[in-house]
Amino acid sequence: MSSETTSTGTPTLKVMSFGAGVQSVTQALLIQEGKLEKPDAAIFSDTGWEPAAVYAVLDRVEREIFQPLGIPLYRVNNGVIQDDVLNPDKMRGIPGFTASKPYEVEVVDRWGLCPDETCGWRKLRQVKEASDGNDELLSLFDVSTMAFDAGDLGGLFDFFGMVPERATLAQLDAQAAYWEPNEDDEEGDVNDALVVATALRRAGLRRVPEKHDACRSRGLVAVASHMEIRRDFGMLNRKCTQTYKLQPILEQVRRMLGGKAEETTCRFCAGTGQRVAPWRAKRGENTIGTCSVCDGNRVIVRVGQPPAGAWAEQWIGFSTDEIGRVSTRGDTRYSRSRHPLLELDMSRQQCIDYLEARGWSDVAKSACLGCPFKSNAEWRRMRDTDPKAWAEVVAFDKAYRDAPGMNHQRFLHASCLPLDEAPIDTRQPREWKTSTVQDQVYAAQLRRAEEGDPDGCSPYACRSGEAVTIDDVA
Ligand code: SF4
Ligand SMILES: [Zn+2]
Ligand SMILES: [Zn+2]
Repeated sequence: MSSETTSTGTPTLKVMSFGAGVQSVTQALLIQEGKLEKPDAAIFSDTGWEPAAVYAVLDRVEREIFQPLGIPLYRVNNGVIQDDVLNPDKMRGIPGFTASKPYEVEVVDRWGLCPDETCGWRKLRQVKEASDGNDELLSLFDVSTMAFDAGDLGGLFDFFGMVPERATLAQLDAQAAYWEPNEDDEEGDVNDALVVATALRRAGLRRVPEKHDACRSRGLVAVASHMEIRRDFGMLNRKCTQTYKLQPILEQVRRMLGGKAEETTCRFCAGTGQRVAPWRAKRGENTIGTCSVCDGNRVIVRVGQPPAGAWAEQWIGFSTDEIGRVSTRGDTRYSRSRHPLLELDMSRQQCIDYLEARGWSDVAKSACLGCPFKSNAEWRRMRDTDPKAWAEVVAFDKAYRDAPGMNHQRFLHASCLPLDEAPIDTRQPREWKTSTVQDQVYAAQLRRAEEGDPDGCSPYACRSGEAVTIDDVA
């Protein structure tokens, strides 16, 4: 749908997005004290995996603030995230860290010329080496530099080598004669055939050499090398905030604005509630499971668009230090965001002080128990103060490791080690390395693991800073 905003004038409803974290509880208290007007409703989107402390605060705010003020609190959800992630018929994702299984690679310390003196690639390599430092000759090799630098004469030469009838000097000369630069050529494009022909002449060759297995057609062989253990690292996309938070909130807003619930037969399972999930079918499996689209209900219930002109003002609790997360990209035809804490110029620290002064010092950060965005400090706190939650996430992390159809393994901790073995007490990223390989992605992950993000998971902003959009949500 379009994110074009047509919501103007007086809002039909004022709705507060209530995450039960520091900023949203601050907003609730500001309402109670009359420093903010009363919204028509508050909405809590429940991933099903918040810490017990967050649910306790939610209940307390409802009891002590919302109910006495007559503000209805809607608790909405779109499933239970930790169950859905492990369910092979759902394949829902959280932004986990991924690592390939360790594998061995040979790292060459020193190269020498191919020992076979008849090898044409060796001759080309000698020409290249002789040309080093000679500007004029070097320019002849510029196009092939990539191949040379990669320790591989393939690339450019391969192109001709793979077409044997074109590989002779005569053919290359003929081809070079037809070459004309055209306007699509990148700057620096040169006559490849001419470059290859010149290289061949300099090497005393009459054609592109035959493949030579001994040097893998490089003209070079390794004379000294060592083995290294490597793993490849990455991170999975984050769609969970959209699925589990933004989507149910917007649906509730549409419902409150008068959008009608429409029921259609689920076309993904032809109304049976069961199907072979497409990702299973792709792997040639035919296991029938619960349809993930209708959740086995056979029908899909969607709340349609509200009547024209009806729109809600959505209160989002970003504080001044989160200004970078503010975006209007989440606005829709029927909702427009408002940031009361920014209007009051309140920072996160001011919110914390404000809460403490009013006896609300136990407000926790709102985020899923096993969210991979947790910092080491947060993991340590959980391990040391909440053994039940810690045991749960350690068990989840183990169950999370392998996903069907995925080559890489998944981890909750950036070190890509099991959570109960992860170096959450170690503060020096370089001490965490499991191999000698310098991997920038890995190093960045480790830095993030220690520093983390001070704010909770907001439906309106990715924890890694990028705004969440409502595309295909509403
Ligand atoms: S807290 Fe983490 S896992 Fe939970 S919805 Fe937000 S980003 Fe996803
Ligand atoms: Zn060779
Ligand atoms: Zn279905």
